[in-house]
Amino acid sequence: MLKDTAKAAWEYGRQFLMKGKVADYIPELGKANPVHLGLCIKTPEGETIEFGDVEQRFTMQSISKVVCLATALQHEGFDTVFSHVMMEPSGDAFNSILKLDTASNRPFNPMINAGAIEIVNLLAPTFSFEQLLDFVRAICMDDEITLDEAVYHSEAATGDRNRAIGYLLKSKDVLTGDVLQTVDLYFKLCSLSVNARSLAGLGLILANGGVDPRNGIRLLSAQTVRTVKTLMFTCGMYDRSGEFAVRVGIPCKSGVGGGIMASVEHQMGIGTFGPSLDEKGNSIGGGSTLEYLSRELHLHIFDSEPQ
Ligand code: GLN
Repeated sequence: MLKDTAKAAWEYGRQFLMKGKVADYIPELGKANPVHLGLCIKTPEGETIEFGDVEQRFTMQSISKVVCLATALQHEGFDTVFSHVMMEPSGDAFNSILKLDTASNRPFNPMINAGAIEIVNLLAPTFSFEQLLDFVRAICMDDEITLDEAVYHSEAATGDRNRAIGYLLKSKDVLTGDVLQTVDLYFKLCSLSVNARSLAGLGLILANGGVDPRNGIRLLSAQTVRTVKTLMFTCGMYDRSGEFAVRVGIPCKSGVGGGIMASVEHQMGIGTFGPSLDEKGNSIGGGSTLEYLSRELHLHIFDSEPQ
């Protein structure tokens, strides 16, 4: 039953691939194949259901913001984290600099670039890139995650807007570390190479309250997971988060590499990969696959239909 619905959702999603466009503002991302679409679902009982391009590797991009936030909440605590970033949807593009110099000194939320760069600034004195990579591997249930050097260099060579955000934060004494080193670590975390399975693994651990269901090991506290999922729900799909909450109603986080990671409370983690993006930077195939799944399986958090 779940398998049939998943297959139908993936087939539905494939119809929309040609309506989008792969990201090319990071030149290396422009090499992605827009007809790829992969769907992976993992349940706490150990079932994995997958269709399409689930082995294809791509970079995590903004989905790394979830892991950075979770790590910061665990190690710095809720109050410190939210003295550096706010928890409000910005309604602006993910890389916008606008509100940072008008509405507030603190970035609006940790799911946009400004907020994530500030969170990385909090992590940088404590964690090396290698330590963060180890944690990403554990929380995605994927030991094969590595740095995609080509994407990293491509992003570093073209990432002046992110450096500008870093300098603006520094000028306001919000970012206290070294701007170039902070943004460099941010670029590396965006350039970790995952697949739809890794994202389903991350979604599953969040759905399971921070515990790896394979071995019962707790990777994140329940409080951290609750905060992270709330911010995914309200801010995880850039300036389409409101529409996504209405249409899909599942905490999700997308990245311009084409991934979407979704977490259905107690039920499943979902990873999709489709590098053809809508104009806001969300995977068009992944988004429509999730919309179909949510509708058919009543996964919307406010769905009152019986399962
Ligand atoms: N590395 C990308 C950037 O900073 C991440 C953006 C994204 O996935 N939306 O522009």
